[in-house]
Amino acid sequence: MRISVPEQALLIGGRWVPSSGGDVLPVEDPSTGEILGELVSGTSDDVDAAVRAAQTALDSDWGQMAAAERGRVLSRIGQAVLQRAGMLADLEAHDVGKPLKQARADALALARYLEFYGGAADKIHGETIPFQHGYTVYTLREPHGVTGHIVPWNYPMQIIGRSVVAALAMGNATVLKPAEQASMTALAFARIATDAGLPAGALNVVTGRGDVAGAALTRHPGVKHLSFTGSTAVGMTIQRSAAANAVPVTLELGGKSPQIVFDDADTEKALPFLVNAGIQNAGQTCSAGSRILIQRGVYSSVLARLIERYRALRVGPAMSDFDLGPLISARQKAVVSDYLDLGRAEGLIAAEGELAAGIPDGGHYVRPTLFADVAPGHRLAQEEIFGPAVVVIPFDTEDEAIAIANGTAYGLVAGVWTADGGRQMRMARRLRAGQVFLNNYGAAGGVELPFGGVGRSGHGREKGFEALYGFSTLKTVAAHHG
Ligand code: ADP
Repeated sequence: MRISVPEQALLIGGRWVPSSGGDVLPVEDPSTGEILGELVSGTSDDVDAAVRAAQTALDSDWGQMAAAERGRVLSRIGQAVLQRAGMLADLEAHDVGKPLKQARADALALARYLEFYGGAADKIHGETIPFQHGYTVYTLREPHGVTGHIVPWNYPMQIIGRSVVAALAMGNATVLKPAEQASMTALAFARIATDAGLPAGALNVVTGRGDVAGAALTRHPGVKHLSFTGSTAVGMTIQRSAAANAVPVTLELGGKSPQIVFDDADTEKALPFLVNAGIQNAGQTCSAGSRILIQRGVYSSVLARLIERYRALRVGPAMSDFDLGPLISARQKAVVSDYLDLGRAEGLIAAEGELAAGIPDGGHYVRPTLFADVAPGHRLAQEEIFGPAVVVIPFDTEDEAIAIANGTAYGLVAGVWTADGGRQMRMARRLRAGQVFLNNYGAAGGVELPFGGVGRSGHGREKGFEALYGFSTLKTVAAHHG
C-alpha cells in the first residue's frame, strides 16, 4: 500500500502554510528504509508565527469559549479520530514501524484522551478558603497561556493525547513540535481537529528539527509552559532553556523500570506481562519493563519459561503485524546493537527471538534479546537501551529487591508480582517510581492514571485529572469587604 505524508505544510493560525525557509526532511518507513515523502522543516521564524497565532487565539474565540464548549469540541474531535482510526494506524505503522495492532491501539488511545479530557474540561474548578472575618477568598484555575509541546517518535498519538489535548481542555493555546522521525499522525490529527471545528490558532503544528524548531520553541518568551517527552539528555537541555524565561516544564524522560516477581506470585498470569512490557513497540517505550527481578525460589522456572517465550517472538514489517516491528532508524539500530554485542561478548544472552523470513533489507530490525544473571550494577541493567533488550536479575529478600529496583538513576514505573497483601503495600510505598503496578503492568495504559517520573525519569504528571492541574495555574483572590 502506498502511504503519503498528510500535509507538507505547517499549521499556523488555522491555515496550512509553507515554511519561511526552504528546508525539508525525509520521511522514512523503518520497515523498508523506503523514503515515503518529505516534511517541512520549520524555522525559528515559523515558531514565532505559531506562538503569535496561539496568543491571538487566546485573545479571541478560543480564549473566550466556555469550558463546556471547549469540552464539546474535544469530544467531537474524539469521535472524528475514532472514525479515522484505521487511517491513523496505517500512517503510524509506516512512519514509526509499529506493528499495525499496536498502532491501532494508539489511535484508539488518542480518541479516548479526547473523550476523557472533553468530559473533564468543565469539571476543574477552584475553591473558597475560610479566612479572617471580613474577607472572601477563592481560587481560580487559569490556563498558562501558550503552551509548547515537544513530542517524540515512539508514541506520537498517545503523547499528543495526554499533553496537547489536556492543555487544550484547560483552555491553553498550543504549539506542537512533533519528532522529525514521526510527524505524520500529528499532521493528520491537526487536519482532523480543524475539520471538526477546533478554532484557528488553538493548535499550531511546526514540524522540523529538534535543534532548530524545537529549540526555538523552548526559548520563545511567548511560551508559558513546556511539555517534553523524550530522552533525558534533551530534557535537561530543555529545562535549562526554559529556565531563561522562568517557564515551568513537564518532563517525561527515560526509564529502567523493574518488574519484580516474588516466589508466591501467580507466575502464569505474570508471564505475558513480563514479556510484553519489554518488547512492546520493540522496547522503544519509556515505561518498558526492562529489568525483570525474580526471587531465587522461582528464578530458574520463570527464566526457563521466559526463554521459551522469547524464542517464539517474531520480528518483521509493521504491516505484517508480528510481535515486534523494526526500530525507528538506522541510528537507533546502531545504538541498540552495541548493547546487544556487549551482552553477547560477555555470554549473557539467554534467548533471542527470530527475524521473520524475507524481511526487507533496508528495515532496521534487531532480535528481541533476553539477558540472564545480570549483575544489578552492569551497564545493561543500568542504562536505558530503548530497544527490545531485557535483563533478568535474581534476588533473595524483599529488602534486596527494593535495593536493586531503586538502584538506578531512573524512577518511572514498577511492577510487583506477589500474593502477599502486606508485601504489596510495603513495596508500593518503598519503590521509587511515579507509578506502581501490583499484579499487572501498565494497567492497559489507563488514560485516567497520572503518569510521570522521579529522578532522571523527569518531573510533573500527565494523564488523568493531574494533567489538568499541570496545564493550569492557580490564582488566589482575597476580597476584603468588612
Ligand atoms: P530521541 O533521542 O529518542 O530521538 P529526543 O529526545 O532527541 O529523542 O527527541 C524528542 C523530541 O525532542 C523530538 O521532537 C526532537 O525533535 C526534540 N528535540 C531534540 N533536540 C531538541 C532540542 N535541543 N531542543 C528542543 N527539542 C529538541
